Amino acid sequence: VIQLEDVDLTLGSGAARVHVLKNISLTVARGEAVGLVGPSGSGKSTLLMTLAGLERPDSGKVLVDGSDLARLDENALARFRGGKIGVVFQSFQLIATMTALENVAVPLELAGRADAFARASQELEAVGLAHRLSHYPAQMSGGEQQRVALARALAPDPVILVADEPTGNLDSETGASIVDLIFAQKARRSATLVLVTHDPSLAARCDRAIRLRSGRIEGEEAKAS
Ligand code: ATP
Ligand code: MG
Repeated sequence: VIQLEDVDLTLGSGAARVHVLKNISLTVARGEAVGLVGPSGSGKSTLLMTLAGLERPDSGKVLVDGSDLARLDENALARFRGGKIGVVFQSFQLIATMTALENVAVPLELAGRADAFARASQELEAVGLAHRLSHYPAQMSGGEQQRVALARALAPDPVILVADEPTGNLDSETGASIVDLIFAQKARRSATLVLVTHDPSLAARCDRAIRLRSGRIEGEEAKAS
């Protein structure tokens, strides 16, 4: 379970200082799928990075299964990021000099897993890329690259998956197939999913959508069923 209490966060310094998140409180239950929506600049990505432990709030609590990420030291935070949570970005963020298999396996290996390569090839197979193990990112389509990024995020078997506009750089058909894959993997692992999207049909697939405006939670929309 994820619980944010009164989270405030500013970014930048001096005249460029921006109060990005203002008094954010929200709870995401285990196994829930939550969409974050709202206009550009409203703080969606920053909120997602905060609950992934990639941004530290100025004040407030970010509780994940009871431990407050805002108070963890860097080592504990790194362990959290490497195990409990998987992150998928709009721009894939694969390492260009590594094959698909290496992109998924190397982080596992660095985390000390002896079965890194076996595990990585299983994960790539699960996203339909058994035939692309030794391809480099530049040799793959956008959809294939995003599947590698998804396999990499899922490989440590995280309890939480977060995705920042995972379909933003894909055509609608490819995007839809990635979304199907994300929800299928989420269901198979009983993971919690938080995703940022501009796509109303994707937001509608989540259990509920939280709308941000100017760094505040403006409202919540339950799934129309
Ligand atoms: P988009 O839909 O365009 O991705 P977003 O809702 O994800 O927007 P964020 O990326 O979270 O928005 O940014 C929220 C605000 O924080 C923006 O006004 C942005 O200018 C500001 N911001 C982000 N990073 C920094 C930074 N390093 N320094 C100062 N301001 C920043
Ligand atoms: Mg964003």
